[in-house]
Amino acid sequence: MDSIRPSRAMAEESDVDVDLVVIGAGPGGGSAALHASRLGLSVMVLEADPEIGTPVHCGECLSHLATEQLELDLPEHVIALAVDGVRVIFPDGTAKLLTEPGYVLEKHLFERWIMEQAEERGAAVHLGHRVTKMEREFNSENQFSNWSLDGRGDAFPIRCRGVIDASGVHGAASKILDMPGDVEVIAGFQYELNDVENDGFLDFYIQPEYAPHGYVWMIPKAGERANVGLVTTDKKGAIKYLDQFIEDTYLNGKPHVNPPWRKEGIKVRPFGGTIPISGPRPSTVEDGLLLVGDAAGFTSPLFEGGTHLALWSGRAAAETFAEALEAGLATKAQLSGYQRRWKATFPPYHKILRGKTALYDLSDEEMSAMARCLPEELGSMSPLQKLGIGLKILVRRPALLTKRVISVLLSFGYSRAKHFGW
Ligand SMILES: Cc1cc2nc3c(=O)[nH]c(=O)nc-3n(C[C@H](O)[C@H](O)[C@H](O)COP(=O)(O)OP(=O)(O)OC[C@H]3O[C@@H](n4cnc5c(N)ncnc54)[C@H](O)[C@@H]3O)c2cc1C
Repeated sequence: MDSIRPSRAMAEESDVDVDLVVIGAGPGGGSAALHASRLGLSVMVLEADPEIGTPVHCGECLSHLATEQLELDLPEHVIALAVDGVRVIFPDGTAKLLTEPGYVLEKHLFERWIMEQAEERGAAVHLGHRVTKMEREFNSENQFSNWSLDGRGDAFPIRCRGVIDASGVHGAASKILDMPGDVEVIAGFQYELNDVENDGFLDFYIQPEYAPHGYVWMIPKAGERANVGLVTTDKKGAIKYLDQFIEDTYLNGKPHVNPPWRKEGIKVRPFGGTIPISGPRPSTVEDGLLLVGDAAGFTSPLFEGGTHLALWSGRAAAETFAEALEAGLATKAQLSGYQRRWKATFPPYHKILRGKTALYDLSDEEMSAMARCLPEELGSMSPLQKLGIGLKILVRRPALLTKRVISVLLSFGYSRAKHFGW
């Protein structure tokens, strides 16, 4: 994985090393590299870590719809379990289903599989290469012409016509170039537990006692393995909350193990990371630069899923960049179609966020009362059913309507696969 193999003549025609550099080899970077190389560009992927996908920082679920939309025909070895959907469990134990098929992945193997396909099409992958410096170069007409990149790794310096920043929550390009926009994050951690039975659903517990402004998950894998974790704004208390949840529930006493990607003999400890929760960055395109996935701030606000969004945006960025090169230079004006495209496709972030805020403004008792007014199946409510729910709430708990529960219900709707929820 360590030699430069420009795939096509394009880069060789000018004095750049490669058409496109992709920063980061997560799902966003993998998708960008795969699609750009399919479109005939020469592509180099720079990944700071020594291997792709580890340490895993993900609950590892992805909807079937995402794989269909991205035309990903998943091989067996990247699937830890095929699942039927999500069960949302409210503070009093009321449980509702969002039935839609999906997968729990072996995420590191999934990311490697995508990158292998990009490599088969000529992309060159450099592991242990961290980008730390980006400088613009201009042509004789003072237009942006290419980037000069520097960093840690043998392949630097590198000159390229464009960069897709898929560096995740680190936001490499935004930091290096001091782009506007502050990023707020939420912390997520999980253990791998054994002997956890499942019925094919992911369990999401909205129980603020254990996860303030977040939720706890049990994400099952075959062989009675499971990722049990949480996201919460209380980063310092996260592990304490998670331990307490496990102790207080049927998970008490289940063996905690290290995931298979960790070296043997290492003390068992949780794994995770941070997720951007401040929404898309103000600008996701600059001259010769497109931001995708977490680096662009693309996560689904209620349950914080980001893999589907990263895969989709990686492809859209690659396509836009290829079109811009075809037309001449990849200036900001030529790349701006990418920003228009995702804005027209992704669900309205701020509406979902409003619903999430309204949800966490409810007391435990109010959340449960709202849940008891909902049908068993949340996935496919007809307009008539939605009206029925409104009436039920009006009759049983009219005060809830002043607490924006309709907005809460909307945000559940927007967390489905068709709205990039997972
Ligand atoms: C605990 C937790 C659970 C989650 N669960 C789910 C889930 O179940 N489903 C879901 O859809 N989403 C989930 N997410 C979110 C999901 O993991 C991310 O949205 C997704 O991985 C984003 O993909 P990405 O390619 O944008 O970035 P990443 O996957 O973060 O990849 C970025 C890559 O860039 C590399 N990099 C960073 N800086 C540089 C640099 N300067 N130079 C070179 N390389 C660099 C990093 O090493 C990394 O490999 C979860 C997140 C967390 C933290």
